[in-house]
Amino acid sequence: MSDEPRLPDVPLPPATGETPLRTPMASPMARVRCPDPLVLVIFGGTGDLARRKLMPALWKLKADGLLPDEFCIVGNSREEITEDEYRQRMRGALEEFAEAPDAAEWEAFHKHIFYVHGSTDDPQTFINLRECLEAADREHGTRGNRLFYLALPPSVIAPTAEGLGRAGLVCDVDSECWTRIIVEKPFGKDLKTARDLNAALLKVFGEPQIFRIDHYLGKETLQNLLIFRFANIIWEPLWSRTYVDHVQITVSESVGVEGRAGYYDTSGALRDMIQSHLLQILTLVAMEPPASYDADSIRNEKVKVLQSIPLIQGDDVDRYAVRGQYAASGEGDKAMPGYLDEEKVPDDSRTETFAALRLTVDNWRWAGVPFYLRTGKRLPNKASEVVIRFRPAPHPVRDLVQADDPAPNALVLHIQPDEGISLFFEAKQPGLRGALRPVSMDFDYCKAFGTESPEAYQRLLLDAMLGDATLFARRDEVEAAWTLITPIAEAWAAGGKPEAYPANTWGPKGADELLAREGRSWAVPGTLGEVVKEE
Ligand code: NDP
Repeated sequence: MSDEPRLPDVPLPPATGETPLRTPMASPMARVRCPDPLVLVIFGGTGDLARRKLMPALWKLKADGLLPDEFCIVGNSREEITEDEYRQRMRGALEEFAEAPDAAEWEAFHKHIFYVHGSTDDPQTFINLRECLEAADREHGTRGNRLFYLALPPSVIAPTAEGLGRAGLVCDVDSECWTRIIVEKPFGKDLKTARDLNAALLKVFGEPQIFRIDHYLGKETLQNLLIFRFANIIWEPLWSRTYVDHVQITVSESVGVEGRAGYYDTSGALRDMIQSHLLQILTLVAMEPPASYDADSIRNEKVKVLQSIPLIQGDDVDRYAVRGQYAASGEGDKAMPGYLDEEKVPDDSRTETFAALRLTVDNWRWAGVPFYLRTGKRLPNKASEVVIRFRPAPHPVRDLVQADDPAPNALVLHIQPDEGISLFFEAKQPGLRGALRPVSMDFDYCKAFGTESPEAYQRLLLDAMLGDATLFARRDEVEAAWTLITPIAEAWAAGGKPEAYPANTWGPKGADELLAREGRSWAVPGTLGEVVKEE
């Protein structure tokens, strides 16, 4: 007998013969197949991202039979190493970040890996690359299909795209072979630079060829948010201002800058995290059901959410946006340095390592419902969580049980770690006194499916190879996100400084006050569950 939960046999309503009960989902989860033959060119092929994420993801795709036989990888960077050395480094990356590859499998696979050295600002690099790609087409049957992955520092993204165009390495959208480009985050550092980057890319590529990556969207739990909302009928009636009091989105990191201060100090929590990951989560929580499940229908709805959020600007920045910077804390073994003590951080840095915003989505569904977003480094734990707090029950139950008013219901989406969903509600504690106590119904990904979720980069690389852009940001989406973030970033750059918070705490007092003045408080990730489990 299977342990799987069984649904009761409920008779379906008779079919009318006219309206299908549901339309098929075309994308993104439904289209798993092996991509067409192709060459994947990784610019920045010796970098951290290529070694830590891209190679392991490719190896797993291969193990799952999701790479075609006619597949090659070409790495590029300025380092003068031989092809053999590059292959050895990629093998080392698998040993370090995935698993030691089986000797026979590696022997077959490594012959599909090539290396072209040279700077992307040198035209000769593209001439050499073209020769390498033509050889791959001849010898490995890759048929002129190219996926260019720009795992490069932001300053060289536009020149690299231009170099590809000048070298004639980009097929037209309607030609027999295809060319696509994946661009890593950060995508610009404000609205103007994002627009400039879009314009530079669009000179060379058509919008359907551009895949702007935000690896958060590759996470299984975020994809499940669409399924959770739109493949189940029970949530929809609750999913609006009528029943939702407010929404909290927290993405917390326990680490500090971890040697990335050079980049981080020019960016900060608002640009690095809120502009991308947190706004992406918000759009998935708040969007309307799309007309169909193709990439553009989904992205249309996400853009509408971003366009419905009033800007925080002028005096509102101090009222609705909070910034913090971690300060040294603890003693002995527990001592943690402050941000200003970190290597390569200037003594007078005003970069925020914590940001919290109060946003609203001014549309029919969400008018008046605050969305509180917060993210930060050196917080007590690493977690990404969405808490949907419902309104309190309208009438007290004191006559029924000797209890305080019931706590409002909450739905918690655990994005990471411990991926799952919990619904918190009040129950009568057993006994004659009959107090109330919050309990939860929990869905745990690992327990339910007995399998680990694939890495985000596996999903995203596969989708880009298949040409499915659902989980990638469109031009207007990125610009709409920057439209929201830029006035806050500019106001912070113009003056003041972040409020200090001790490392290993939940951020500055201002973040608590942001909610407290509206009679609310942050749910510390994991603690709703602890309330239930403690006895
Ligand atoms: P690294 O600094 O580790 O790697 C950068 C790579 O680019 C190196 O291979 C470098 O090699 C190469 N490179 C730099 N300039 C040139 C040039 N002009 N021509 C050719 N190659 C060049 O960075 P990461 O791998 O960490 O990050 C790459 C991009 O991905 C960045 O935009 C980052 O923001 C983004 N990203 C990274 C994540 C990660 O986990 N690492 C996560 C999310 C985004 P060389 O100097 O030898 O030329």
